[in-house]
Amino acid sequence: MQYIQRKSLLYKSGVEYGDYTINHVEGCSHGCMYPCYAMLMAKRFGKVKSYEEWIKPKIVSNAAELLKKEIPKHRDKIKFVHLCFSTDPFMYGYQEITDLSVTLIRMLNDAGIKCTALTKGILPDELAKLSPSNEFGITLISLNEDYRSQYEPFSAPYKERIKSLYRLHKKGVKTWVSIEPYPTPNIIDQKFEEILKSVAFADKIIFGRLNYNGMVSQYQDHKGFYNKLSRQVIEFCKKNNKEYHIKEGTMTNNLKSNKSDVTASLFGRQEILAAAGR
Ligand code: SF4
Repeated sequence: MQYIQRKSLLYKSGVEYGDYTINHVEGCSHGCMYPCYAMLMAKRFGKVKSYEEWIKPKIVSNAAELLKKEIPKHRDKIKFVHLCFSTDPFMYGYQEITDLSVTLIRMLNDAGIKCTALTKGILPDELAKLSPSNEFGITLISLNEDYRSQYEPFSAPYKERIKSLYRLHKKGVKTWVSIEPYPTPNIIDQKFEEILKSVAFADKIIFGRLNYNGMVSQYQDHKGFYNKLSRQVIEFCKKNNKEYHIKEGTMTNNLKSNKSDVTASLFGRQEILAAAGR
């Protein structure tokens, strides 16, 4: 494992459903090939030179020390902290990263701060012992392991991911699933309802299209395809009393009449309204 030091850790994110965030690892061993937006940004800003360098994660060795100093400065402004927008907090096969993520979540919770986390790895059971306000999620865009090997080559197998989420759900943890970046049928033809059914126990669903991939626009009716699936997510969630969020640019028709649906967010309507007034 490689280590780096940083000067700061906790910051306000500009991401659609984000508030504050930390990225206590640089790079990500999952090596997604959609491509990975975080890797594109890291390359653009000169943090990594190549894919090979990106998939060798570097832990921020002073992360806990930085967080301890920064929590008191930001505590009053934070609604929640998300792990992570430019790496994965529970990288598959990297116990040291999982342990550090749990430590940092515990520190934030101890200061009364709620955390959310999203992974393509395995959510550890010990998360169930942390604050009940936390929300933990997995990304799930397929159930096909061949697809995973091609596009998320070093991530956790889909069944293992779902099982780890289910274990937390059974322990009373609030769980969510990010079905994003969802591929068009010319990339993989799959039954969307089977993906929804496999995570029917989760409390929230986020759905989003695949971006930065030319194959999507080659699919003739990609807009119609994403509109149809967005409606399917909304109907599924309404019927099963779940929260949902359709990512910007995914649902391009009927946006006006569905505005309240589209903004019924990952983090609940009240929090979205509060965020809008911020
Ligand atoms: S898990 Fe996320 S951060 Fe890691 S390579 Fe995949 S898309 Fe990038």
